[in-house]
Amino acid sequence: MIPTALVTGGNRGIGVEICRQLLERGHRVVLTARDPAAAERAAGHLEAHGPLLTQVLDVTDPASVTASRERLRSEGVDVDVLVNNAAIYPRDALLEQPLDAWERTLRTNVTGPLLLCQAFLPAMLERDHGRIVNVSSGSGSFGEGLYGPAAYCVSKAALNALTVKLAEQIGEGTDVLVNAVCPGWVATDMGGAEAPRTPAEGARGIVRLATLPRGGPTGRFFRDEHEIPW
Ligand code: NAP
Repeated sequence: MIPTALVTGGNRGIGVEICRQLLERGHRVVLTARDPAAAERAAGHLEAHGPLLTQVLDVTDPASVTASRERLRSEGVDVDVLVNNAAIYPRDALLEQPLDAWERTLRTNVTGPLLLCQAFLPAMLERDHGRIVNVSSGSGSFGEGLYGPAAYCVSKAALNALTVKLAEQIGEGTDVLVNAVCPGWVATDMGGAEAPRTPAEGARGIVRLATLPRGGPTGRFFRDEHEIPW
């Protein structure tokens, strides 16, 4: 049986590259996006690379997350790999931060990954097999100085904390591994054109964690193959 990977925000940027690399590594990929037309457009570029499903999934909407799980369940698809990639990056200054943008950032970047884990982790634990990759950022690292706009930094620091709590909840001695990863500074809509890394380079460290062998690390934070401080 080929493993199945679900990727959030799979329609552009690093997300579409994660999908491509996972297809090339022999996974079936569930490319999800909040906009159905965007999902289909991205899928059109990837279909030649391997077995691909598309789904509409807004990570901020619990009903959308549940519907995704139920559709996959009804099609007999088990999710072996969950990549929490979708995120937003508002640039407001902290003291002028509009409350709705603050809350939307936390809801997209932290609550979304939690909802996805609540939907897909229990079945991974039942099968004693799964990989969860939380796409974080050096901006969420206290050790690297929480560099960047406040709402984004706070959301990624919280995603890091969520990663630690998920690993604690999963416990040791299982084949379910959860890690956080920073893709580096990547040339996407979020990273800007001047960023030094390509989406393919940014996706590589994410895909490495998505395809870790049994006994691999869990509850850690990486950039490429190097562990970085929380
Ligand atoms: P991007 O180009 O801005 O793409 C963001 C993706 O997230 C898009 O597919 C977007 O969908 C999706 N998204 C946003 N809100 C969503 C929601 N509510 N439900 C579902 N999807 C949603 O960003 P990127 O640079 O590829 O970043 C990917 C990941 O890497 C993020 O977690 C980001 O924080 C992290 N990261 C990026 C950099 C960098 O330099 N680029 C650095 C460190 C970390 P729409 O098309 O519908 O908006």
